[in-house]
Amino acid sequence: MNFQYWNPQIEKMPRPELEALQLEKLKAEIGHALRTPFYKSRLGSVGIKSPDEIKTLDDLKKIPFTTKHDLREGFPYGFLSIPKEEVVRLHASSGTTGIPTTIYFNQDDIKRWTGYVARCIFGTGCDKHDVFQNMITYGLFTGGLGFHQGGEEIGMLVIPSGAGNTARQFKLMQDFGTTVLHATPSFLLHVESKMREAGIKRESLALKRAFAGAEPYSEDTRRRIENLLHIDVYNSYGLSEMNGPGVAFECQCKNGLHIWEDGYIAEIINPDTLEPVKDGETGELVLTVLCREATPILRYRTRDLTAFYTEPCACGRTHRRLRRITGRSDDMLIINGVNVFPSQIEEVIMGIKEVGNNYLIVVEKEGVLDRLTVKTEVGADIFMDDARPLNALKERIRETLQASISISPRVELHESGSLPVSEGKAVRVKDTRPKDV
Ligand code: ADP
Ligand code: ZN
Repeated sequence: MNFQYWNPQIEKMPRPELEALQLEKLKAEIGHALRTPFYKSRLGSVGIKSPDEIKTLDDLKKIPFTTKHDLREGFPYGFLSIPKEEVVRLHASSGTTGIPTTIYFNQDDIKRWTGYVARCIFGTGCDKHDVFQNMITYGLFTGGLGFHQGGEEIGMLVIPSGAGNTARQFKLMQDFGTTVLHATPSFLLHVESKMREAGIKRESLALKRAFAGAEPYSEDTRRRIENLLHIDVYNSYGLSEMNGPGVAFECQCKNGLHIWEDGYIAEIINPDTLEPVKDGETGELVLTVLCREATPILRYRTRDLTAFYTEPCACGRTHRRLRRITGRSDDMLIINGVNVFPSQIEEVIMGIKEVGNNYLIVVEKEGVLDRLTVKTEVGADIFMDDARPLNALKERIRETLQASISISPRVELHESGSLPVSEGKAVRVKDTRPKDV
């Protein structure tokens, strides 16, 4: 394969050099951190009063973790390291799990962030001949502007279409010959269903690839999108606390996401003991930003679950790879005492070819027991008025799920296109059980 590198010197940098670069940048970042009210006190409490106290990368472990709770406590300016007049932009998280957190950028921060996203996009084979339709939410959410800037940086024609409105999306694809898409995986599946409904032939479009991220999805979902739309789909991972997109991305080997270690330090810990896991074991990703001056964030507990791949990648990049993120540690549902991750359910149902492009997991209280219902759409070519094959399909889904999650769910089949679709991140779980206070 002919691999394309945006910055070969950095992307293929030998590990010892890369680690020396990390140490240098970490010290600079600690310098920025010591200018924020939050870290001045937090680092002070462990005796770090100057960047010179960091002598090796291992010294990072002396720094306490930063949590989403800390970021909220520090709202609005507790994490700001520069005078307000130097700030040129703010972004916020989507607030999937509560109050959103805010991140500030100066001009150089924006340029550096843009460079990381450009590196990701270019590494998938895109160049200035591509037409890039950015079908994701713009605004405070980092996905829109983040990809927009990265796309322009490599010279693609960027269509800032934003999320939603499939009819308009199709029109843009047709009018301008879109070759590359960016969206959540759930929206890409929705686009495919709507395309079929509208009778738009895939061959009439110039699509080649898509970037899909912002929410967890399984390998089966990736394959489904690739097969339905005849495109290559690349997994994109980022979070607003670490700038947004551009943190980790798949290369053309599509086997794990390279985390850009010249911009971020990644650790994976056991969320209960807070100790590092062994290489290859799953745990919670902890990230330190090395490329932002205005809002330094050190050892941030992302709650995202992943593992490091141990073997080097065939593309020649030296930056380590993360396994596809399966969800957040706090996504776990406890159903009648059994632990279930929504990603386990997705993995099963998206592997069944008669199942359509959308699903919803419902958890309710029924008397003293919890009741799990999995609602899935059926493929557009399945007739809803023929009960026998539908019942057989339902039973097959139920049995396969039970084998995987050890719970027997109720399964409901719905017509293609009838389950709710959200414009931003998909809402896959509806848990109506009363919360313990
Ligand atoms: P919020 O935490 O409010 O959703 P963000 O908009 O910053 O805020 O979203 C970042 C989060 O989205 C990540 O921490 C992760 O949980 C999820 N995410 C982003 N990209 C991916 C991906 N490729 N796979 C799985 N989850 C992802
Ligand atoms: Zn690679």
